Amino acid sequence: EEVRVAMIADRAPEPAPRRIIAIGSGKGGVGKSTLTANLAVALARMGRKVGVVDADIYGPSQPTILANKGERPKAEDGKLIPVPSKWGVSVLSMGHLVEPGKAIAWRGPMAGNALGQLIDAHWGDAEVLLVDLPPGTGDVQLSMLQKHKPAGAIIVSTPQDLALIDAQRAANLFETGKIPLIGLVENMAGYACPHCGEISDPFGRGGVEDASEATGIPFLGRIPLAIDIREDSDAGTPTAAQDGPQAEAFAAIARSLSD
Ligand code: ADP
Repeated sequence: EEVRVAMIADRAPEPAPRRIIAIGSGKGGVGKSTLTANLAVALARMGRKVGVVDADIYGPSQPTILANKGERPKAEDGKLIPVPSKWGVSVLSMGHLVEPGKAIAWRGPMAGNALGQLIDAHWGDAEVLLVDLPPGTGDVQLSMLQKHKPAGAIIVSTPQDLALIDAQRAANLFETGKIPLIGLVENMAGYACPHCGEISDPFGRGGVEDASEATGIPFLGRIPLAIDIREDSDAGTPTAAQDGPQAEAFAAIARSLSD
């Protein structure tokens, strides 16, 4: 009996359950991948253990943004081992599962199965998994809702009306699946001209905040349209890993997730 008690006492405490947060958008190109990578880096800078699942079958870009593109995940006991990055965030991407440069043309069940492999991987002590979903409301999203039940979802949109209508559709999908909507993020609002400093709004401004008021879905923050953000992503040196107002914009949203 004493031996048994000692064995129980020696056992490491059970890790807290991992929180899966899905990042979705109504359509492509609104900055969902950019936000996912930078939120992950911002959370890691705050001392959180974070993993990124890049489920965007149409354009997996996390290995580029987080600079671990050339690396292939290994497997152990039939499960993938996430690929570390130098930003303190581990990544598994649809892009890691296919030959570089090859288009992914998977049908629903295959894509759902691939998502399962990325999520049910050796995530170790990761407390939070941010899942960069494909845009829209397709098979991968359904598989995400039904099989992997995220703790919550974030929807990214530009302030443009059309993007907002699509974002609303994405939000409805999560609501139907009873996934709590953590909030909306407005991306690409407020462009500061690098020459004269004047702020203009190519895609409008404030539309997402208005949508938040109209729907009751919380507004998490606004990321400006900035050449640096695009250049940082292309260079594999995410903006959130640096200092300055843009890194702070990502950090502010990350703080709202951390509570
Ligand atoms: P999505 O994942 O929604 O398809 P991405 O994150 O890939 O969108 O962004 C699309 C393009 O826009 C990329 O080239 C990215 O670097 C750029 N981008 C995203 N957000 C911003 C921003 N706030 N400022 C400037 N460029 C941005």
